[in-house]
Amino acid sequence: MKKPVLTIVVPCYNEEEVFLETAKQLTAVLEDLLDEHLIAAESKILFVDDGSRDRTWSLIEKESETNPFVTGLKLSRNFGHQKALLAGLETAKNYSDCVISIDADLQDDVSVIREFVVKYWEGFDIVYGVRRSRKTDTFFKRATAQGFYRFMRKMGIHLVYNHADFRLMSKRALEELSRYSEANVFLRGIVPLLGFRSTEVLYDRKGRFAGESKYPLKKMLAFAFDGMTSFSVAPIRFITFIGFLSFLLSSAAGIYALIVKLLGHAESGWTSLMISIWFIGGLLLMSIGLIGEYIGKIYQEVKRRPRFTIEENLYSRQMEHELSLPSFHEKERVKS
Ligand code: UDP
Ligand code: MG
Repeated sequence: MKKPVLTIVVPCYNEEEVFLETAKQLTAVLEDLLDEHLIAAESKILFVDDGSRDRTWSLIEKESETNPFVTGLKLSRNFGHQKALLAGLETAKNYSDCVISIDADLQDDVSVIREFVVKYWEGFDIVYGVRRSRKTDTFFKRATAQGFYRFMRKMGIHLVYNHADFRLMSKRALEELSRYSEANVFLRGIVPLLGFRSTEVLYDRKGRFAGESKYPLKKMLAFAFDGMTSFSVAPIRFITFIGFLSFLLSSAAGIYALIVKLLGHAESGWTSLMISIWFIGGLLLMSIGLIGEYIGKIYQEVKRRPRFTIEENLYSRQMEHELSLPSFHEKERVKS
């Protein structure tokens, strides 16, 4: 097999505190892989700046001038983790045989990248990084994350347990991924749908190297809700079920009220009336809200807006330049 061109995609949002260390560690990983002849020389680290408001982009640009592995992509504003990742994957797939995605904060063990590549050599198209333990996460983060997986499974969405967006994908898996053109991207849900030969690699998840989480509770809840409503109509079915149940209950109550009336002692009723008005009212509002959520999703999908906008693309420029150099191909031929 020909040595694959590997691109490591790293979404960054206000990551000036960790950027240099991340670049250093990932560069070391690529150098080792090159020494072992596991990857091709054009392999790169693609930092995707997701509209950071700090110095992240200027750090990326500066690093790319001195470090031949480092390159960058700048989005025109903050699009969110999933879309930043998608922008990186879509860009990287044009010039790479396989792509690994990893967070900028060094929580995922970079030494596992070698195992990913080995699995790729063994013929796997998708390799999931799966956390062995969550010891360093706060109790809160751990509990909410575990609740999230359990809940999603109940909803009929099959996610790889304890896998975040640390994974390797082959070119053909990425080609397939780009045919999923939905606006509401939830990569962890989509990637298992692609099929292909896949496997898992276990690793220990560490604490953030520096800086703070860009996923506060509010964003996490939004993420879970989005994931749920983009993949499953189970919540709507649940609403229908509750509606049916309350219909049955209220018919029974209606029959009871009628009998009481016919027997001639119908003075009670205020309490039960109030309770049922509030109950049904709440139920209706909840149902309408939920259905509205799906209609909102449909609205977003039918608009077919671009999912992200790239402002600057150092990567394509660099790759086209490198591939056009005759000396580069010479060097490759001599090596192989
Ligand atoms: N991130 C991003 N855009 C955002 C939020 C986060 O690109 O709007 C990146 C962030 O820089 C990091 C990754 O997504 O590389 C994961 O974010 P974070 O580590 O804050 O999330 P956590 O690990 O706490 O879930
Ligand atoms: Mg993190």
